[in-house]
Amino acid sequence: SEESNMIVAVRVRPLNAQECNRQQVTNVVQVHGNSNELTVQAGSSADASAGVTHFFSYDQVYYSCDPEKKNYAGQAKVFEGTAGPLIETAFDGYNACLFAYGQTGSGKSYSMMGIEALDDAALDGGPPHDEAGIIPRFCHELFRRIEAVRAEQQLQVEVEVSYFEIYNEKIHDLLSVQHATSSSVDSTPVQQQRPALKVREHPIFGPYVVDLSAHSVDSYSALRNWLAVGNSQRATASTAMNDKSSRSHSIFNIVLNLTDLSTDDGLTSDTDSESTASLKQTRRSKISLVDLAGSERISVSGSNGERIREGVSINKSLLTLGKVIAALADGRKAGGGNGPSTPSTFVPYRESVLTWLLRENLGGNSKTVMLATISPASIHADETLATLRYACKARSIVNRVKVNESPHD
Ligand code: ADP
Ligand code: MG
Repeated sequence: SEESNMIVAVRVRPLNAQECNRQQVTNVVQVHGNSNELTVQAGSSADASAGVTHFFSYDQVYYSCDPEKKNYAGQAKVFEGTAGPLIETAFDGYNACLFAYGQTGSGKSYSMMGIEALDDAALDGGPPHDEAGIIPRFCHELFRRIEAVRAEQQLQVEVEVSYFEIYNEKIHDLLSVQHATSSSVDSTPVQQQRPALKVREHPIFGPYVVDLSAHSVDSYSALRNWLAVGNSQRATASTAMNDKSSRSHSIFNIVLNLTDLSTDDGLTSDTDSESTASLKQTRRSKISLVDLAGSERISVSGSNGERIREGVSINKSLLTLGKVIAALADGRKAGGGNGPSTPSTFVPYRESVLTWLLRENLGGNSKTVMLATISPASIHADETLATLRYACKARSIVNRVKVNESPHD
């Protein structure tokens, strides 16, 4: 196995129209040139901390505020720098993960999914629209690579997708067929129709969601259609329960099964004593693309009990994610800063559904990218600083990765 640092990228969204129209709102985030560093001006002029400049450095910084600027990073550039390299990672048989972290409204869903309504052509197999996000671009690029590989006839590739969300510590399948057909004729909120799914631990493959539907796809347009099904399920549930999307985590999984065809084509005839010529080498990669719930502290002062329970359990998954990242980062420090994150401290993966399911992606067998999204607006400076500090901590995590491969016949 080899070591792999978590890659941490930060993306700054533009000020929105509402923020631009408010007199007191200024842009407090600066990115200088084409760098991987940024600064945040903290405190209003009335504050004691006025004029304090906070400095941060990451693997990548994407400045998406002003299309006129030379260092402007649009959807294509963000994809190419973050998820693009994970295509190669997957074909090599490694697990991969990219997760978006940030306060509500900072650009997580825009970065991960983009503006879907503009991407209709993709459902017919057309290329992603300019405003398409990381997930559709990843899927498109994946199948471009698969077509190329198929043409060479060296490798057999099978793709399977699943898509679910975690809300209130409960797992809901976004691609269950029965679910997809019943909800369009029935206006009952989706959550009440089906029981939540459970997490179990497989002795070899680790934690998994029991009874989660998985769908074989053979083309980009087939994959894109499943994505659309899941997104509409997510949106339906979200309208039924006011703005649920900011409080739920969504996880889109792609499993690649790669079988080497070059060893059993009869051309390797110098193997009279060995039977290995008939063995096919297979590699497997699981790619998880995650849009997390908003990282802002959720108010629990709501007058109805449901709201309070939501707040508590959403805090539980994100809170535990924070604890896991802190434990991995501290463990590494304690170990002298060399080697993988084999912490001396206990890592509480099983304290939340999210961290249990993402265990391999956090300090385990996965190449992992964190995309921290921030607003440049002065009114959000506190949450922005919290996100940036969190992202710094994540940077010190080291995973131990290995190719998932097995010969079989
Ligand atoms: P989140 O998912 O973090 O709550 P969204 O992705 O929904 O936030 O973004 C909030 C709003 O800001 C949306 O209207 C989105 O289209 C817009 N937005 C976010 N990031 C960008 C960006 N980089 N460029 C243009 N618009 C953006
Ligand atoms: Mg969102």
